Formats: sequence, C-alpha cells, structure tokens
Amino acid sequence: NAKGPRLPAYLKTSIPTGASFSKIKKDLRGLKLHTVCEEARCPNIGDCWGGKPGATEAEGKSAATATIMLMGDTCTRGCRFCSVKTSRAPPPLDPHEPENTAEAISRWGLGYIVLTSVDRDDLADGGCRHFAETIQKIKQKCAITMKVVARSGLDVYAHNIETVEALTPFVRDRRATFRQSLSVLQRAKQEGVRVTKTSIMLGVGENSEQVLDALKELRKVDVDVVTFGQYMRPTKRHMKVDRYVEPAEFDRWKQIAEDMGFLYVASGPLVRSSYKAGEFYIENVLR
Ligand code: SF4
Ligand code: SF4
Repeated sequence: NAKGPRLPAYLKTSIPTGASFSKIKKDLRGLKLHTVCEEARCPNIGDCWGGKPGATEAEGKSAATATIMLMGDTCTRGCRFCSVKTSRAPPPLDPHEPENTAEAISRWGLGYIVLTSVDRDDLADGGCRHFAETIQKIKQKCAITMKVVARSGLDVYAHNIETVEALTPFVRDRRATFRQSLSVLQRAKQEGVRVTKTSIMLGVGENSEQVLDALKELRKVDVDVVTFGQYMRPTKRHMKVDRYVEPAEFDRWKQIAEDMGFLYVASGPLVRSSYKAGEFYIENVLR
C-alpha cells in the first residue's frame, strides 16, 4: 500500500482556534520566532496552545505550552520522519532571537517552557553560545518564573532516540546514531542534570523485542523519563507509517517501562516529546 495504513479515528484532532492560540501565533510572527509545534505539524497544537496565556505555575494545568525552536526554521540535517525544512547552508542566526524569545515567554507567562533547536552543523560551535545567551535572557526577563526553577533545582534535559537501534540508520539523519544518543544522555546525567528524558516513536517498523532492548539500554544510562507516541507521516515526501499502534499497546509499554524503573512514562498515540511537559514538571518535580 503506497499510502500506508488508514488514519484511525483516535488520531484525528480538531483544527485549533481560540484567543490563546491566536495570541501565541501573532506574537511568534511579530518576533520572528519558530516553534516545533508548527514546523513539525504537531497534532496537539490546539490542546497545547489553547491553554490560558498568563496562567501561573499554580494554575499549571491550564497554562499554555509551546516548544520554541531556536536558531531559525531550517535544519542542516534531514531525518526521514521530520517536516522541519533542511538546507546545507541555512541563513545566519538572528542576533535578536535570544531577546525575542525572552520577550515572548514573558508576555505569555507560561507555566513551563520547552526550548529546542534545529541542528546547525554549519556553525563552528553548533549554536551553543546562542542557546546559552537565550537562557540568560530568559532568566533576566522572566525573573519570577525562574525563581521557581532555581528553587526546585530543575533541569530537564531531553534528547530523543526516536526509534530502536536497528532502525536508526533508516529513520534519523545518518550523522545521528543510537549509541551516540545514549552517550549524550549519559553525559548529561554525569554533569549533574537532574532529570533526563527521551522519546520513542512507535509505528515505524520496530518490533517489541527491539523496543524492550532500547528501554534496557536507556535504563543503563539512568534515563528518568520516556515517552512513546505514534509516528505520523508529515507529508508524502516523508517515510511511510508502518502501522498504527492501538492505544492498548501504548498502555502496555507504559506499564513495562514503569516496571523497569522509569520515573515517569507518557505513552499514547498523540503523545509527543514535549506534550504536557509542564504537567510532568508540576506533578513530579515541584512536589
Ligand atoms: Fe528534524 Fe532531524 Fe533536524 Fe531534528 S535533526 S530538526 S529531527 S531533521
Ligand atoms: Fe508543541 Fe509539543 Fe504541544 Fe506538540 S506536543 S503542540 S510540539 S508543545
């Protein structure tokens, strides 16, 4: 079947609307910022952006979440599942991006913010300094939110393995390997990061034994949080969906991973790496 399996009803989400959604969208355009939510065509955008802008940390669950993508909207890599634009020579970094990111976050008053970025193999430092400057600017501008972060000592470091070891060369950019990702996660933990987190997409052709092996490897390097979601093909140019995994199978993976000692497991067809990240933070770290 050239198109792959049919989309089950539980994966159909509604078109986002609402004041909060429109405000976030308008601010992003004005400040020339990008989000993974839009670039990766995430199906949860209505749900995540539909939270209440200005909601405080105490109101956490109603706060909007957005995942800001730094260093532009064009990646130097080309993973087969990802709809972010790619180019060997993307435009130079926007020097205003750190300031603008802080401005957006302070306007929205988000309960929790996820920062991510495209890969910039074209930059000598891979964009480290730009990332660091953004975090500094956010800390200066969003003093209240950051006080909470400092008090909790929170530092969640997420790096996605995306798939099982055997499928990695077919799914991710050839420069990314499964072992390299494990060592990145291990190093983060060794350097004192409190919580490490990774994500696995199901439905790209993996079998249960391979998933189980991946989980064992992740536990060996002390990864705390794992999320499982369904791979959805962003466009016809991207790799096909192998199968749609039933919600019951997602529940089974949640149970298995919890029994293996993961601190927190989110598993479901629409779960994405950053989905309800704020809820996880409030329920498991602030407590
Ligand atoms: Fe997408 Fe891969 Fe680039 Fe990440 S590294 S933005 S997954 S193409
Ligand atoms: Fe954005 Fe993540 Fe929510 Fe998707 S799940 S809309 S990428 S914050």
